[in-house]
Amino acid sequence: MKVVVAGCGTGGAEFLRHYSGDVTVISPSSYLYCQALFPAYLAGKVSEDEVKVDLLPFFEEKGIKFRRGKVEFVKDKCKTVFLNLKTLKGVSYDKLVLAVGGEPIHVEGVEKALTLNDFESAKIAKKRIERAREVAIVGSGMSGVEVAYEISGFCNVTLIEYERRILPGMCEKVSDVVRKLLSREGVKILTSCKVERISDTLKTSCGEFSFDEVIWCAGIKGKRVPGLKYGKSGIVVDSSLKATQNVFAIGDVAEVNIGDVATKTALEAERQAKFVAKAIKSGKIGKYKPFSTLRNPFAIMTFDDKAILVRGDKVLTGKPIYKLKMLVVRKFLKNFER
Ligand SMILES: Cc1cc2nc3c(=O)[nH]c(=O)nc-3n(C[C@H](O)[C@H](O)[C@H](O)COP(=O)(O)OP(=O)(O)OC[C@H]3O[C@@H](n4cnc5c(N)ncnc54)[C@H](O)[C@@H]3O)c2cc1C
Repeated sequence: MKVVVAGCGTGGAEFLRHYSGDVTVISPSSYLYCQALFPAYLAGKVSEDEVKVDLLPFFEEKGIKFRRGKVEFVKDKCKTVFLNLKTLKGVSYDKLVLAVGGEPIHVEGVEKALTLNDFESAKIAKKRIERAREVAIVGSGMSGVEVAYEISGFCNVTLIEYERRILPGMCEKVSDVVRKLLSREGVKILTSCKVERISDTLKTSCGEFSFDEVIWCAGIKGKRVPGLKYGKSGIVVDSSLKATQNVFAIGDVAEVNIGDVATKTALEAERQAKFVAKAIKSGKIGKYKPFSTLRNPFAIMTFDDKAILVRGDKVLTGKPIYKLKMLVVRKFLKNFER
């Protein structure tokens, strides 16, 4: 059975760890990056080397073939994934695992904002924020609040949220704890404020503002992959994470709605990867059960030793949680070091 994996981020790499056989990976880079460390990277608390692992030695050890490139089109009828539509350069597969990640939700001018969805963008963001005084962060989900905390030490930060409270996907108690924590760090918070356009100024429903830099953290959707059905937030998959007969989609690229919508987190990408590895290995396709969902989220947010663990409406804070998160993150990257 020939398996092709598109993308070697959190989901793709975790799939490769749990699956052995004839595998080809297609990705623009052989590096695995830990996005959870990007907020700390922006603040200079961790170095580039600490947020990445080169997967080539891991691939070599497991006999995995690596092709540098980007998936442009999937034609499942011919069981082929195309890397270049002009030359029709393609790779054939028996099963395809699509793990190409997400991209920012669109708003006019969003390409002018800094983003953190891949390391090259995070690197540019770090350089530009170091020179900035007034920085706006659009979106107060998990990554927005962590970035606000981390850069508040050297910039004036304004956090802008469309909903009436920050961390709207979590319970009120978490919003409250994090709002107080950020306010103590001097972060200005604007809620019920919709960003309409990013140009030289930031046009919002609360007025027009001027900032040196704008960081876009307002949610992501799965990358579009022509040839596959796209829903509200990504490639539509069924209860066994299949997009078509021979294509699975996992992690941020997928819209996983099985009774409840799975969160676009590393935890979910890893769980989905393990599920698909098992399904392809055994040939038995079961039903996937998301763990962290929009109705019952699980998250650990790090604000140094004031870290917060959220599970549904339960909230825990303290230094041991920070240590736990660092342990989990470092252990994940270590799995791929050779
Ligand atoms: C700032 C930030 C902080 C976060 N913090 C946390 C956290 O604390 N906890 C948590 O659980 N989650 C966190 N997340 C979310 C988490 O990082 C993602 O949900 C997770 O990485 C998704 O994994 P993925 O494999 O779907 O995508 P990614 O890890 O983004 O990997 C995508 C891969 O696809 C490759 N690729 C892209 N386009 C193509 C293409 N066309 N063809 C082939 N390959 C392609 C990329 O190079 C990459 O290798 C955070 C995200 C951000 C941005």
